[in-house]
Amino acid sequence: MKAAILKSPGVLELCDLPDPLCPKGGALLEIKACAVCGTDVKMREQGHRDLAYPRVLGHEMVGMIVEMDSDRALAEGDLAQVWPGIACGKCRSCQRGADNRCPSIRIMGFNCDGGFAQLLALPEQSLSGGVNLLPHGAEPVLAALAEPLACCINGQEQARVSEGDCVLICGGGPIGAMHALLAELHRAEKIIVAERLPGRIRLLERHTSAIVVNTAEESGKKVLAEEIGKAGVDVILTATPEVRVDNDLQKLLSPGGRICIFSGPAAGNYEELINLRSIHYHELTISGAYGCSSRQNRQAVELLTRGMIKADWLITKRTNLAGIEEAFSHSSQRTGMKSVVCRN
Ligand SMILES: [Zn+2]
Ligand SMILES: [Zn+2]
Repeated sequence: MKAAILKSPGVLELCDLPDPLCPKGGALLEIKACAVCGTDVKMREQGHRDLAYPRVLGHEMVGMIVEMDSDRALAEGDLAQVWPGIACGKCRSCQRGADNRCPSIRIMGFNCDGGFAQLLALPEQSLSGGVNLLPHGAEPVLAALAEPLACCINGQEQARVSEGDCVLICGGGPIGAMHALLAELHRAEKIIVAERLPGRIRLLERHTSAIVVNTAEESGKKVLAEEIGKAGVDVILTATPEVRVDNDLQKLLSPGGRICIFSGPAAGNYEELINLRSIHYHELTISGAYGCSSRQNRQAVELLTRGMIKADWLITKRTNLAGIEEAFSHSSQRTGMKSVVCRN
C-alpha cells in the first residue's frame, strides 16, 4: 500500500509499505478520508512529545471495513470513523470513561501508525467503543472532522461551557471555529473570537454567530477590550499556541470564570500565569484538555452526521494521498481552514 511516512523532522515521504494484516480480533480499514490536524503540521515541523519515528501520521480518520476478525456489530463494507486512541480498557481512567487519560494509551498517528495511508489495521481494543459506524450516506470527508470536534467537546466539558456564558476563543482556525460552533450549541450568550488572518475572519463571520475581532489591527485590541467589557468573560478557550497564557489573560475572567488551556502553549508563553489570590477570591478554574475520550468522539460523530454542527464549510482543501504535500501546505499557510486527504 501507499503511505505518507514522516521519517524524521521535516521529511515526509510517500512510500510503498507491505499491506497490513487484519489483527486477531480486529479489523482492516480502507481509508476514505483523513484530515490534517495542526498537530500533524507541528509534528512534521518540530516533532511532538508523543511522536516516534518513522511514522505514518494522521489521526482524524474515516474508512470502510474491508476485513473483520470479530463478530462485533460492524461488518465488511461498513463506513466507520475511528477514535485514534488505543487504551487498555482496564485502568481507573478507562473504567471511568476518560480513556484519553489511560497511562498506557497509544495513539494512531503518534506512537503507532495512522491514517495517511491506503489501509489501517485496527486492533481488538479499537472495536470496543473506538470505531463508530456511520449512517448510510454519510460523507467520509465531513465525518473526518469528528475527532477534532471531539477534542473541542473535551475542552468545553473541562471549562464547563454552558447556557448564558460569555466565551472568548483565542484563535480562529479550525479549532477556534469548532469551539465557536459548539459554544453556540451550548447556548452561550456571547462568543468572541480573536483572530489575525483575514481569510479566516471572513469565514468565521459568514458561518458562525461569533463576534470576530481582528487583533492584527491596532483598533482590534480596543474592540476586543470593549467586547469583553469590565465584567469579563466566563470562559476563555485557547485555540492557538500563540496566545500568551499569563496574568493579563487571567484578568479577563469574570468571577467564577474558567480557562481551558486547549492548545499546547509554545515555550515561554505560559509563565506568570497563576495569580493564586485571584483564583481564591474570584473562584477561578484553570483546566487543560488533550485529545478526547472515545465517548466524546462518539458524541462528535452524532453531532456531525445529524447536522447539529454544520462544519462542511471548514473543509477548504481536498487532495488525494499523492497530494499530501499540498494538504500540509494548505494547513500550514493558514489561508483557509481544514485540508482533508481523501480517496477519489
Ligand atoms: Zn488533531
Ligand atoms: Zn486504561
